[in-house]
Amino acid sequence: MYYNDNTFIFLNGEIVKASEAKIDLYGQTLHYGYGVFEGIRSYKTAEGKTKIFKEEAHFERLKNSAYALNIPYTWNNEDLIKATYQVLELNHLQDAYIRPLIYAPANMSFVRNHESFIAIETWEMKPFLGEQLLNVMTSSFERPNPRGFKIEAKATGHYVNSILASQEAKAKGYDEALLKDMKGFVAEAPGANFFVEKNNVLYTPQTGNILPGITRATILEICAQLGIQTIEKNITLAEVHGADSAFFCGTAAEVIGITSLDKILFRKEWKDSPGSIIQNEYKNLVTEKKKQEKLETV
Ligand code: PMP
Repeated sequence: MYYNDNTFIFLNGEIVKASEAKIDLYGQTLHYGYGVFEGIRSYKTAEGKTKIFKEEAHFERLKNSAYALNIPYTWNNEDLIKATYQVLELNHLQDAYIRPLIYAPANMSFVRNHESFIAIETWEMKPFLGEQLLNVMTSSFERPNPRGFKIEAKATGHYVNSILASQEAKAKGYDEALLKDMKGFVAEAPGANFFVEKNNVLYTPQTGNILPGITRATILEICAQLGIQTIEKNITLAEVHGADSAFFCGTAAEVIGITSLDKILFRKEWKDSPGSIIQNEYKNLVTEKKKQEKLETV
């Protein structure tokens, strides 16, 4: 599903077949969840080109995630971006998901490594949370404690928490989970950030207990341009339950509306909410549609 015999990946400086690539079964990443990764997306633009959205920001976060976990990062991001475009082309992909992964060598102890490895995989992208509006439940799992983890890093091990929360929600008949932080404030979804709207003002959890998403930052920029007021703050569950609308956002999820939280419906229909305008703007931005429209009117 992710690859076949003709799929290529970038592996430690070389382009190799995914089906022939090898990793070490004694690796620290596999055993302890000690690695970092990125979730990036490329789009076929309105002009028909392949464009990786905010590629520099993503590779910068990859580097910072590695630094946060004391993982050596010896690559030049410009080279990695070039290699990623090459892999996309070899795999004949334009609308794709891109997954760089930095993994550790064989090491069963907890001591620091002097080397690390990189793989960049690409596959065809299907909407991560689907395209339907979501029924969400408040998770019984909390997000990892920032005093126990480097929560701002995109570390492989953190995703055990995400998997547990998502599986719990699905087992109970919901589409996705919303997790609170250790202080009981609303935090984020297992793989996406959260916005809630009341009286046309958008609220999103402040950084500190969440992964500060690149999509979240993009949405704050879009809102500033559209004149939509945004406030980053601690948000209680009671504030969300009485709200007008809400959505999740992330590289894979893009902007996806939420119908209900814990079976309590949001007051506005998604199509009447500022979120649906933002959803459109985001799509135009990533596919460079706006740029194209501007060019056509010149
Ligand atoms: N929170 C979590 C836990 C995530 O895994 C993701 C996806 N990377 C996000 C938020 C959204 O981040 P981004 O917009 O950078 O994809």
